[in-house]
Amino acid sequence: MIRFFVDFDGTVTEDDVVDKMLERFAPSAWKVIEKKWAAGAIGSRECLLEQVRMISAKPDELKKLLAEVNVDPTFLDFLKRAQGLSLPVTVVSDGFDLVIDAVLKNTLGNWLAGHPLPVYCNRLQWNSKGLELTFSEPASCEHGCANCKPGVIRRLSSAKDTVIFIGDGNSDRFAAEAATLTFAKGKLLDYCRKKGIRHEPYKNFKTVEEWLVKQPLRKESHAVL
Ligand SMILES: [Mg+2]
Ligand SMILES: [Zn+2]
Repeated sequence: MIRFFVDFDGTVTEDDVVDKMLERFAPSAWKVIEKKWAAGAIGSRECLLEQVRMISAKPDELKKLLAEVNVDPTFLDFLKRAQGLSLPVTVVSDGFDLVIDAVLKNTLGNWLAGHPLPVYCNRLQWNSKGLELTFSEPASCEHGCANCKPGVIRRLSSAKDTVIFIGDGNSDRFAAEAATLTFAKGKLLDYCRKKGIRHEPYKNFKTVEEWLVKQPLRKESHAVL
């Protein structure tokens, strides 16, 4: 079966919401930590713990920022197409549930009320001191990830599946290596080219939908329906 795993920030959304939060609510030193992570010197768990500690925002300020976030206008059509063919789509993100839940509700709430979209990500909560970050897996993986994308892919798929990953950035490097085929843009596209990872460049989810309708899976999926 084809299983889609989809990055959130910069892939489902037009901008990276985590970066937007840091730009607005943290001192510019967050970029020093970001560079260490991009260079592979630290894992995303250490990176995000340090960065979240730097954020000073009030709940209503964050809410305002989240209301400004747009999703790829072609994402919903892709989702409908995949769900119509009974092909699972899972969001796998190294971002935050507080952000993802709000953005999806703001933008696709009507559709998602009847068609749940599973999301695997990190947990961000308000406590008396500000924002608190926790992880769904207590121990870190070999990459030092906050939320290990290839780990989620391995847990949710079998060797018989065709795993399609869709992403855009540095947080998708390990997932691309675990997928059968990766749709890549931005920094992830550079990485896939450099490492010889099987990939298709894409602009938005329209490209992925066009690929999907060309696959000889429709008969098999209709039999399932
Ligand atoms: Mg991304
Ligand atoms: Zn990992």
